[in-house]
Amino acid sequence: MIGAGVIGAAVGYELARRGWRTLNVDALPAAGFGSTSNSCAIVRFTYSTYDGVAMAWEGLHYWTDWPAYLDAEDERGLATLVQCGTLLLKNPGGHHSRVVPLFDEVGIPYEDWDEATLRARMPAFDPGVFGPPRPVDDAAFWDGPTGPLPGAIWTADSGYVSDPQLASHNLQRAAEAKGGRFLFSTRVTGIDRSGDRVTGVTLDDGATVSAPVVVNVAGPHSAVINDLAGLAGTMRIGTRPLRHEVHHVTAPPALDYEHTGVHVSDGDTGVYFRPETGNSILVGSEDPECDARDWVDDPDHFDRSITAAQWEAQVLRLARRIPSLGVPNQRRGVVDLYDVADDWIPIYDRTDLDGYYVAIGTSGNQFKNAGVAGHCMAELITAVEAGHDHDADPLTVTGRYTGVALHLGSFSRNREINPDSSFSVNG
Ligand SMILES: Cc1cc2nc3c(=O)[nH]c(=O)nc-3n(C[C@H](O)[C@H](O)[C@H](O)COP(=O)(O)OP(=O)(O)OC[C@H]3O[C@@H](n4cnc5c(N)ncnc54)[C@H](O)[C@@H]3O)c2cc1C
Repeated sequence: MIGAGVIGAAVGYELARRGWRTLNVDALPAAGFGSTSNSCAIVRFTYSTYDGVAMAWEGLHYWTDWPAYLDAEDERGLATLVQCGTLLLKNPGGHHSRVVPLFDEVGIPYEDWDEATLRARMPAFDPGVFGPPRPVDDAAFWDGPTGPLPGAIWTADSGYVSDPQLASHNLQRAAEAKGGRFLFSTRVTGIDRSGDRVTGVTLDDGATVSAPVVVNVAGPHSAVINDLAGLAGTMRIGTRPLRHEVHHVTAPPALDYEHTGVHVSDGDTGVYFRPETGNSILVGSEDPECDARDWVDDPDHFDRSITAAQWEAQVLRLARRIPSLGVPNQRRGVVDLYDVADDWIPIYDRTDLDGYYVAIGTSGNQFKNAGVAGHCMAELITAVEAGHDHDADPLTVTGRYTGVALHLGSFSRNREINPDSSFSVNG
């Protein structure tokens, strides 16, 4: 595995538990120190395709079963799932209209709140329609609501994982307990091949590791690694790093948002937010069309400082929904990269180089799916290495917990751009 983020560590664990001899190589000093470390780690099911929803629902159960799933000790303790629930605010023509039929199809429990229920259950929220989202310097930004939101969709099972870096470390320990190995502070500088078959990797100290199977789990470096493998231009779906800011704001003390707050997806203002320790609210962008996208050419060089413009956009949008929010002068938060696929749906697949696989393009929304993605990749690799033609006959994997059918053809490198995608972090 090239990478030991949450996805790489999960693929390593799933292969190791099937008896493979695995090695995760990571340029950074510990598991989950890359983009995973700054993940909001939200576990929600609100995707816009059947397979997106099915993966997320199955993925939840890895977190609720985490200690048993890992079957290993971690001296640092285990990450936990905080099931604060998710409120998907309905806005006219909004994401809920796509999501609700998919919840019904997959069998996800939810409550459909009308306008009055939303007001009663969330008294601190302004229930008005402010959208569509606008830049804060738009003359209409502070206009009053044009009407009431029609309600919301509530899922009680969702929430967030307490510590995404620790979760990756947990997976490392679980893989190691099954014989898996990890090599840190070491960069892969070459992909070795013989004809159409991968034979291993070259490391930055000049050493080589021979391996019949190599998996690109390099997060925002996925395209760099595919270039090293000589695969540029061989996949219909590409990946590209996108810079994202997530901000931390202190919640009004009376709200006690840390303990009583919920995760909210607010397509009307263009932000999502969730509770965070220290009575904070963590707020990120749902990539509204009015905001320019901050694509990054080189994932090793990007601006890690919080910008005044993005801070104002996100915090003031949040303040529209929670009017009692004080807007602090001091900016707090994190900046990191999504590895965005052309249609914001991940690529879990083989490639044209035999033995070389990819779990990439996680598009800001696959932390929650680490366990199930690891399972799917291990099933895929095992089947293809045994001779299965996954391109001609895409594999369907059965969810370990829910029994749901996971159609891996939907995550193919050569799929058509999925027109049902939200083309945003909502997948
Ligand atoms: C700000 C932010 C918020 C997010 N919020 C959520 C959320 O709420 N819910 C959700 O489900 N998802 C969320 N995500 C997405 C989620 O965090 C990612 O999908 C997931 O963490 C990706 O894991 P990864 O292992 O693929 O990548 P990474 O964690 O980036 O790991 C890739 C690893 O590869 C290593 N690497 C790269 N190149 C090389 C090389 N040449 N040699 C050796 N090692 C190499 C890197 O050092 C890195 O450690 C968010 C992402 C961000 C950035």
